Amino acid sequence: MNNTLEETIARITPELIETRHHIHQNPELSDQEAGTARLVAARLAALGLEVRAEVGGHGVIGTLRGARPGRTLALRADMDALPIGEESDLPYRSQNVGVMHACGHDGHTTVLLGAAQALAAERDRIAGSVRFLFQPSEETGQGARRMCAAGAMDGVDAAAALHAWPPLPVGQIGIRMGAMTASADTFDILIHGSGAHAAYPHLSADPVVAAAQVILALQTLVSREIDPVEPAVVSVTQVSAGTAPNVIPETVRLAGTVRTHSNAVREAIPERMRRVVEGVCAAGRAHAEIHFRQGTPPLVNDPSVAALIADAAGETLGRENVILLPHASMGAEDFAEYLAYAPGALLRLGLGQPTPLHAPTFDFPDAALPVGVRVLSAFALRFLGA
Ligand SMILES: [Zn+2]
Ligand SMILES: [Zn+2]
Repeated sequence: MNNTLEETIARITPELIETRHHIHQNPELSDQEAGTARLVAARLAALGLEVRAEVGGHGVIGTLRGARPGRTLALRADMDALPIGEESDLPYRSQNVGVMHACGHDGHTTVLLGAAQALAAERDRIAGSVRFLFQPSEETGQGARRMCAAGAMDGVDAAAALHAWPPLPVGQIGIRMGAMTASADTFDILIHGSGAHAAYPHLSADPVVAAAQVILALQTLVSREIDPVEPAVVSVTQVSAGTAPNVIPETVRLAGTVRTHSNAVREAIPERMRRVVEGVCAAGRAHAEIHFRQGTPPLVNDPSVAALIADAAGETLGRENVILLPHASMGAEDFAEYLAYAPGALLRLGLGQPTPLHAPTFDFPDAALPVGVRVLSAFALRFLGA
Protein backbone atom coordinates (compact mmCIF):
# COMPACT_ATOMS: atom_id res chain seq x y z
CA MET A 1 0.00 0.00 0.00
CA ASN A 2 1.09 3.45 -0.91
CA ASN A 3 2.48 5.45 2.03
CA THR A 4 1.21 8.90 1.11
CA LEU A 5 -2.29 7.49 0.68
CA GLU A 6 -2.14 5.86 4.12
CA GLU A 7 -0.86 9.11 5.61
CA THR A 8 -3.62 11.14 4.02
CA ILE A 9 -6.28 8.75 5.27
CA ALA A 10 -4.85 8.77 8.82
CA ARG A 11 -4.78 12.57 8.74
CA ILE A 12 -8.36 13.04 7.51
CA THR A 13 -10.00 10.37 9.68
CA PRO A 14 -10.83 12.66 12.67
CA GLU A 15 -12.54 15.08 10.27
CA LEU A 16 -14.42 12.21 8.59
CA ILE A 17 -15.72 11.08 11.98
CA GLU A 18 -17.07 14.59 12.60
CA THR A 19 -18.66 14.64 9.16
CA ARG A 20 -20.33 11.27 9.77
CA HIS A 21 -21.71 12.45 13.10
CA HIS A 22 -23.07 15.59 11.48
CA ILE A 23 -24.82 13.59 8.75
CA HIS A 24 -26.11 11.09 11.32
CA GLN A 25 -27.53 13.92 13.39
CA ASN A 26 -29.28 15.45 10.36
CA PRO A 27 -30.82 12.49 8.50
CA GLU A 28 -33.08 13.13 5.52
CA LEU A 29 -35.62 10.80 3.96
CA SER A 30 -35.49 9.62 0.34
CA ASP A 31 -36.09 12.55 -2.04
CA GLN A 32 -35.46 15.06 0.77
CA GLU A 33 -31.63 14.87 0.92
CA ALA A 34 -31.15 18.59 0.16
CA GLY A 35 -29.01 19.38 3.22
CA THR A 36 -26.77 16.33 2.83
CA ALA A 37 -26.39 17.08 -0.88
CA ARG A 38 -25.36 20.68 -0.10
CA LEU A 39 -22.70 19.45 2.33
CA VAL A 40 -21.41 16.92 -0.21
CA ALA A 41 -21.30 19.45 -3.07
CA ALA A 42 -19.44 22.00 -0.92
CA ARG A 43 -16.84 19.44 0.18
CA LEU A 44 -16.25 18.23 -3.39
CA ALA A 45 -15.94 21.78 -4.69
CA ALA A 46 -13.42 22.58 -1.93
CA LEU A 47 -11.28 19.69 -3.22
CA GLY A 48 -11.24 21.28 -6.67
CA LEU A 49 -13.51 18.68 -8.27
CA GLU A 50 -16.00 19.49 -11.00
CA VAL A 51 -19.40 19.34 -9.30
CA ARG A 52 -22.85 18.76 -10.75
CA ALA A 53 -25.74 19.10 -8.29
CA GLU A 54 -29.44 18.15 -8.38
CA VAL A 55 -28.83 15.11 -10.57
CA GLY A 56 -31.89 12.83 -10.66
CA GLY A 57 -33.28 14.58 -7.57
CA HIS A 58 -30.78 15.66 -4.91
CA GLY A 59 -27.94 13.63 -6.46
CA VAL A 60 -24.43 15.11 -6.63
CA ILE A 61 -21.64 14.11 -9.02
CA GLY A 62 -18.02 15.10 -8.46
CA THR A 63 -15.39 14.44 -11.10
CA LEU A 64 -11.70 14.14 -10.30
CA ARG A 65 -9.49 14.32 -13.37
CA GLY A 66 -6.13 12.62 -13.11
CA ALA A 67 -2.86 13.99 -14.44
CA ARG A 68 -3.08 11.83 -17.57
CA PRO A 69 -5.95 10.68 -19.76
CA GLY A 70 -7.39 7.20 -19.26
CA ARG A 71 -10.49 5.31 -18.24
CA THR A 72 -13.37 6.55 -16.08
CA LEU A 73 -14.29 4.86 -12.82
CA ALA A 74 -17.56 5.58 -10.98
CA LEU A 75 -17.69 5.19 -7.19
CA ARG A 76 -21.12 5.48 -5.64
CA ALA A 77 -22.62 6.25 -2.22
CA ASP A 78 -26.26 6.65 -1.16
CA MET A 79 -27.36 9.54 1.06
CA ASP A 80 -30.93 8.85 2.24
CA ALA A 81 -32.17 7.84 5.70
CA LEU A 82 -35.19 5.83 6.85
CA PRO A 83 -38.54 6.62 8.52
CA ILE A 84 -37.47 5.03 11.82
CA GLY A 85 -37.36 6.74 15.23
CA GLU A 86 -33.82 6.43 16.57
CA GLU A 87 -33.49 4.77 20.00
CA SER A 88 -30.16 6.03 21.24
CA ASP A 89 -28.29 8.12 23.80
CA LEU A 90 -25.58 9.09 21.32
CA PRO A 91 -24.53 12.75 21.53
CA TYR A 92 -25.03 12.93 17.76
CA ARG A 93 -28.37 11.10 17.64
CA SER A 94 -30.93 12.16 15.04
CA GLN A 95 -32.42 15.62 15.46
CA ASN A 96 -35.04 14.86 12.82
CA VAL A 97 -37.82 13.11 14.76
CA GLY A 98 -38.88 9.79 13.25
CA VAL A 99 -36.01 9.75 10.74
CA MET A 100 -32.63 8.07 11.17
CA HIS A 101 -29.61 6.65 9.37
CA ALA A 102 -30.39 3.02 10.15
CA CYS A 103 -28.83 1.62 6.96
CA GLY A 104 -25.38 3.21 7.31
CA HIS A 105 -25.79 5.64 4.39
CA ASP A 106 -24.25 8.33 6.64
CA GLY A 107 -21.17 6.09 6.68
CA HIS A 108 -21.30 5.44 2.92
CA THR A 109 -21.52 9.15 2.14
CA THR A 110 -18.65 9.95 4.49
CA VAL A 111 -16.46 7.13 3.15
CA LEU A 112 -16.94 8.38 -0.39
CA LEU A 113 -16.11 11.96 0.65
CA GLY A 114 -12.99 10.53 2.29
CA ALA A 115 -12.08 8.65 -0.88
CA ALA A 116 -12.53 11.85 -2.91
CA GLN A 117 -10.20 13.68 -0.53
CA ALA A 118 -7.61 10.87 -0.48
CA LEU A 119 -7.65 10.45 -4.27
CA ALA A 120 -7.51 14.20 -4.92
CA ALA A 121 -4.16 14.13 -3.11
CA GLU A 122 -3.01 11.39 -5.52
CA ARG A 123 -4.08 13.17 -8.70
CA ASP A 124 -0.58 12.92 -10.19
CA ARG A 125 -0.77 9.14 -10.07
CA ILE A 126 -4.15 8.88 -11.76
CA ALA A 127 -4.60 8.19 -15.46
CA GLY A 128 -8.25 8.89 -16.31
CA SER A 129 -10.91 10.14 -13.96
CA VAL A 130 -12.90 9.16 -10.93
CA ARG A 131 -16.57 10.09 -10.89
CA PHE A 132 -18.03 10.22 -7.38
CA LEU A 133 -21.77 9.52 -7.46
CA PHE A 134 -23.77 10.57 -4.40
CA GLN A 135 -27.24 9.33 -5.08
CA PRO A 136 -30.58 10.10 -3.46
CA SER A 137 -33.43 7.68 -2.75
CA GLU A 138 -31.79 4.27 -2.50
CA GLU A 139 -34.32 3.05 0.06
CA THR A 140 -37.18 3.64 -2.36
CA GLY A 141 -35.26 2.01 -5.23
CA GLN A 142 -35.62 5.13 -7.41
CA GLY A 143 -32.38 7.10 -7.04
CA ALA A 144 -29.95 5.03 -9.09
CA ARG A 145 -32.32 4.78 -12.05
CA ARG A 146 -32.81 8.55 -12.09
CA MET A 147 -29.05 9.21 -11.77
CA CYS A 148 -28.42 6.94 -14.76
CA ALA A 149 -31.17 8.62 -16.78
CA ALA A 150 -29.49 11.96 -16.04
CA GLY A 151 -26.23 10.69 -17.55
CA ALA A 152 -24.34 9.63 -14.42
CA MET A 153 -22.93 6.57 -16.20
CA ASP A 154 -22.21 8.13 -19.61
CA GLY A 155 -18.65 7.21 -20.56
CA VAL A 156 -18.02 5.17 -17.41
CA ASP A 157 -15.82 2.06 -17.79
CA ALA A 158 -16.48 0.46 -14.41
CA ALA A 159 -18.38 1.14 -11.18
CA ALA A 160 -17.99 0.16 -7.54
CA ALA A 161 -19.83 0.76 -4.28
CA LEU A 162 -19.82 -0.53 -0.75
CA HIS A 163 -22.54 -1.29 1.77
CA ALA A 164 -22.19 -1.50 5.51
CA TRP A 165 -22.43 -5.10 6.74
CA PRO A 166 -22.90 -5.66 10.50
CA PRO A 167 -21.85 -9.34 10.83
CA LEU A 168 -18.33 -8.93 9.36
CA PRO A 169 -15.68 -7.52 11.74
CA VAL A 170 -14.32 -3.98 11.27
CA GLY A 171 -11.24 -4.23 9.08
CA GLN A 172 -12.74 -6.87 6.80
CA ILE A 173 -14.69 -6.70 3.57
CA GLY A 174 -16.88 -9.30 1.91
CA ILE A 175 -17.24 -9.74 -1.82
CA ARG A 176 -18.46 -12.26 -4.39
CA MET A 177 -17.76 -12.98 -8.02
CA GLY A 178 -21.27 -13.11 -9.48
CA ALA A 179 -24.68 -12.61 -7.83
CA MET A 180 -24.61 -10.31 -4.82
CA THR A 181 -28.21 -9.17 -4.22
CA ALA A 182 -31.57 -10.07 -5.73
CA SER A 183 -34.04 -8.46 -8.07
CA ALA A 184 -37.13 -7.08 -6.31
CA ASP A 185 -40.25 -6.97 -8.45
CA THR A 186 -43.82 -6.69 -7.23
CA PHE A 187 -47.13 -8.06 -8.45
CA ASP A 188 -50.77 -7.22 -7.92
CA ILE A 189 -53.47 -9.76 -8.71
CA LEU A 190 -57.16 -8.87 -8.80
CA ILE A 191 -59.40 -11.94 -8.79
CA HIS A 192 -62.89 -11.20 -10.03
CA GLY A 193 -65.70 -13.63 -9.25
CA SER A 194 -69.31 -12.88 -8.52
CA GLY A 195 -70.68 -12.14 -5.10
CA ALA A 196 -73.68 -13.63 -3.32
CA HIS A 197 -75.26 -14.22 0.10
CA ALA A 198 -72.79 -16.38 2.03
CA ALA A 199 -75.60 -18.89 2.71
CA TYR A 200 -76.01 -19.55 -1.05
CA PRO A 201 -72.45 -20.13 -2.31
CA HIS A 202 -73.70 -21.98 -5.40
CA LEU A 203 -75.08 -18.63 -6.64
CA SER A 204 -71.60 -17.08 -6.50
CA ALA A 205 -68.26 -17.59 -8.23
CA ASP A 206 -66.35 -17.29 -5.00
CA PRO A 207 -63.12 -15.28 -5.48
CA VAL A 208 -62.01 -16.02 -1.90
CA VAL A 209 -61.75 -19.76 -2.56
CA ALA A 210 -60.05 -19.06 -5.91
CA ALA A 211 -57.59 -16.73 -4.16
CA ALA A 212 -56.77 -19.36 -1.54
CA GLN A 213 -55.98 -21.85 -4.31
CA VAL A 214 -53.98 -19.24 -6.22
CA ILE A 215 -51.80 -18.55 -3.16
CA LEU A 216 -51.01 -22.26 -2.77
CA ALA A 217 -50.53 -22.82 -6.51
CA LEU A 218 -48.01 -19.92 -6.64
CA GLN A 219 -45.83 -21.90 -4.22
CA THR A 220 -45.24 -24.42 -7.02
CA LEU A 221 -43.64 -21.76 -9.27
CA VAL A 222 -40.36 -21.93 -7.36
CA SER A 223 -40.57 -25.58 -6.27
CA ARG A 224 -41.68 -27.09 -9.62
CA GLU A 225 -40.79 -24.63 -12.38
CA ILE A 226 -37.43 -23.10 -11.42
CA ASP A 227 -34.17 -25.08 -11.44
CA PRO A 228 -33.56 -25.90 -7.75
CA VAL A 229 -30.01 -24.55 -7.93
CA GLU A 230 -31.36 -21.11 -8.95
CA PRO A 231 -32.48 -19.02 -5.96
CA ALA A 232 -35.96 -17.49 -6.26
CA VAL A 233 -38.67 -16.27 -3.90
CA VAL A 234 -42.35 -15.72 -4.68
CA SER A 235 -44.15 -14.33 -1.62
CA VAL A 236 -47.80 -13.31 -1.44
CA THR A 237 -47.73 -10.67 1.28
CA GLN A 238 -51.10 -8.91 1.03
CA VAL A 239 -54.57 -10.42 0.85
CA SER A 240 -57.62 -8.20 0.95
CA ALA A 241 -61.29 -8.92 0.41
CA GLY A 242 -64.76 -8.77 1.90
CA THR A 243 -67.01 -6.44 3.83
CA ALA A 244 -69.12 -8.72 6.05
CA PRO A 245 -69.17 -12.29 7.40
CA ASN A 246 -72.33 -13.13 5.48
CA VAL A 247 -71.34 -11.75 2.06
CA ILE A 248 -69.24 -13.51 -0.57
CA PRO A 249 -67.32 -10.63 -2.15
CA GLU A 250 -66.91 -9.82 -5.82
CA THR A 251 -63.15 -9.47 -5.81
CA VAL A 252 -60.00 -10.37 -3.91
CA ARG A 253 -56.71 -8.51 -4.19
CA LEU A 254 -53.41 -10.30 -3.71
CA ALA A 255 -50.01 -8.61 -3.80
CA GLY A 256 -46.47 -9.70 -3.20
CA THR A 257 -42.85 -9.78 -4.26
CA VAL A 258 -40.63 -11.82 -6.59
CA ARG A 259 -36.88 -12.11 -5.91
CA THR A 260 -34.29 -13.72 -8.18
CA HIS A 261 -30.53 -13.71 -8.73
CA SER A 262 -30.55 -13.92 -12.51
CA ASN A 263 -32.27 -12.06 -15.31
CA ALA A 264 -33.21 -15.36 -16.99
CA VAL A 265 -35.22 -16.52 -13.98
CA ARG A 266 -36.58 -13.03 -13.40
CA GLU A 267 -37.92 -12.83 -16.94
CA ALA A 268 -39.42 -16.34 -16.86
CA ILE A 269 -41.61 -15.77 -13.81
CA PRO A 270 -44.34 -13.35 -15.03
CA GLU A 271 -45.54 -15.60 -17.86
CA ARG A 272 -45.55 -18.65 -15.61
CA MET A 273 -47.37 -16.78 -12.88
CA ARG A 274 -49.97 -15.64 -15.39
CA ARG A 275 -50.59 -19.23 -16.58
CA VAL A 276 -50.96 -20.59 -13.02
CA VAL A 277 -53.18 -17.76 -11.80
CA GLU A 278 -55.43 -17.74 -14.86
CA GLY A 279 -55.72 -21.54 -14.88
CA VAL A 280 -56.64 -21.78 -11.22
CA CYS A 281 -59.12 -18.91 -11.50
CA ALA A 282 -60.77 -20.44 -14.58
CA ALA A 283 -61.33 -23.66 -12.63
CA GLY A 284 -63.29 -21.64 -10.09
CA ARG A 285 -65.29 -19.61 -12.66
CA ALA A 286 -63.32 -16.50 -11.71
CA HIS A 287 -60.90 -14.48 -13.78
CA ALA A 288 -57.75 -12.60 -12.89
CA GLU A 289 -56.05 -9.33 -13.75
CA ILE A 290 -52.30 -9.45 -13.12
CA HIS A 291 -50.04 -6.41 -12.92
CA PHE A 292 -46.25 -6.71 -12.63
CA ARG A 293 -44.03 -3.84 -11.61
CA GLN A 294 -40.35 -4.24 -12.30
CA GLY A 295 -38.24 -2.90 -9.45
CA THR A 296 -34.52 -3.29 -8.91
CA PRO A 297 -32.69 -5.82 -11.13
CA PRO A 298 -30.44 -8.51 -9.66
CA LEU A 299 -27.01 -7.16 -8.70
CA VAL A 300 -24.41 -9.40 -10.33
CA ASN A 301 -20.79 -8.50 -9.63
CA ASP A 302 -18.51 -8.54 -12.64
CA PRO A 303 -15.87 -11.18 -11.80
CA SER A 304 -12.93 -9.15 -13.09
CA VAL A 305 -13.91 -5.94 -11.26
CA ALA A 306 -14.66 -7.94 -8.09
CA ALA A 307 -11.29 -9.69 -8.37
CA LEU A 308 -9.52 -6.36 -8.74
CA ILE A 309 -11.32 -4.99 -5.65
CA ALA A 310 -10.41 -8.15 -3.69
CA ASP A 311 -6.81 -7.80 -4.77
CA ALA A 312 -6.51 -4.09 -3.93
CA ALA A 313 -8.33 -4.61 -0.61
CA GLY A 314 -6.11 -7.59 0.20
CA GLU A 315 -3.05 -5.45 -0.28
CA THR A 316 -4.23 -2.68 2.02
CA LEU A 317 -6.15 -4.73 4.63
CA GLY A 318 -4.29 -8.05 4.46
CA ARG A 319 -5.46 -11.01 2.36
CA GLU A 320 -7.06 -12.69 5.38
CA ASN A 321 -9.42 -9.72 5.71
CA VAL A 322 -11.00 -10.15 2.29
CA ILE A 323 -13.83 -12.65 2.71
CA LEU A 324 -15.32 -14.39 -0.30
CA LEU A 325 -18.98 -14.50 0.72
CA PRO A 326 -20.53 -17.95 0.26
CA HIS A 327 -24.04 -16.69 -0.48
CA ALA A 328 -25.72 -13.82 -2.24
CA SER A 329 -28.55 -12.03 -0.43
CA MET A 330 -32.26 -12.11 -1.38
CA GLY A 331 -32.41 -8.42 -0.41
CA ALA A 332 -32.14 -5.79 -3.16
CA GLU A 333 -29.76 -2.88 -3.72
CA ASP A 334 -30.34 -0.31 -6.43
CA PHE A 335 -26.60 -0.11 -7.24
CA ALA A 336 -27.65 -2.89 -9.66
CA GLU A 337 -29.06 -0.19 -11.97
CA TYR A 338 -25.59 1.21 -12.71
CA LEU A 339 -24.36 -2.20 -13.82
CA ALA A 340 -26.65 -2.08 -16.86
CA TYR A 341 -24.22 0.59 -18.15
CA ALA A 342 -20.79 -0.74 -17.14
CA PRO A 343 -19.30 -3.73 -15.32
CA GLY A 344 -18.88 -3.24 -11.61
CA ALA A 345 -19.11 -4.69 -8.14
CA LEU A 346 -20.58 -4.06 -4.71
CA LEU A 347 -18.59 -4.96 -1.63
CA ARG A 348 -19.68 -5.43 1.98
CA LEU A 349 -17.86 -3.31 4.55
CA GLY A 350 -17.50 -5.02 7.95
CA LEU A 351 -19.05 -3.23 10.95
CA GLY A 352 -18.46 -5.86 13.63
CA GLN A 353 -21.68 -5.34 15.53
CA PRO A 354 -24.72 -7.39 16.48
CA THR A 355 -27.28 -4.67 15.61
CA PRO A 356 -28.84 -5.37 12.20
CA LEU A 357 -29.43 -2.80 9.46
CA HIS A 358 -32.77 -0.94 9.70
CA ALA A 359 -32.92 -1.41 13.51
CA PRO A 360 -33.74 1.68 15.67
CA THR A 361 -30.48 1.24 17.62
CA PHE A 362 -28.22 0.92 14.55
CA ASP A 363 -25.14 3.15 14.28
CA PHE A 364 -22.33 2.95 11.70
CA PRO A 365 -19.07 2.50 13.68
CA ASP A 366 -16.50 5.26 13.15
CA ALA A 367 -13.69 2.68 13.00
CA ALA A 368 -15.08 1.38 9.71
CA LEU A 369 -14.74 4.79 7.98
CA PRO A 370 -10.98 4.65 7.21
CA VAL A 371 -11.31 1.00 6.17
CA GLY A 372 -13.86 1.93 3.52
CA VAL A 373 -11.75 4.86 2.33
CA ARG A 374 -8.66 2.66 2.04
CA VAL A 375 -10.46 -0.01 0.01
CA LEU A 376 -12.16 2.38 -2.44
CA SER A 377 -9.02 4.49 -2.89
CA ALA A 378 -6.71 1.51 -3.35
CA PHE A 379 -9.10 0.01 -5.89
CA ALA A 380 -9.39 3.32 -7.80
CA LEU A 381 -5.61 3.70 -7.99
CA ARG A 382 -5.33 0.11 -9.17
CA PHE A 383 -8.07 0.46 -11.79
CA LEU A 384 -6.74 3.73 -13.16
CA GLY A 385 -3.34 2.24 -13.70
CA ALA A 386 -1.45 4.15 -11.05
ZN1 LIG B 1 -31.52 0.04 3.74
ZN1 LIG C 1 -28.62 0.63 2.54
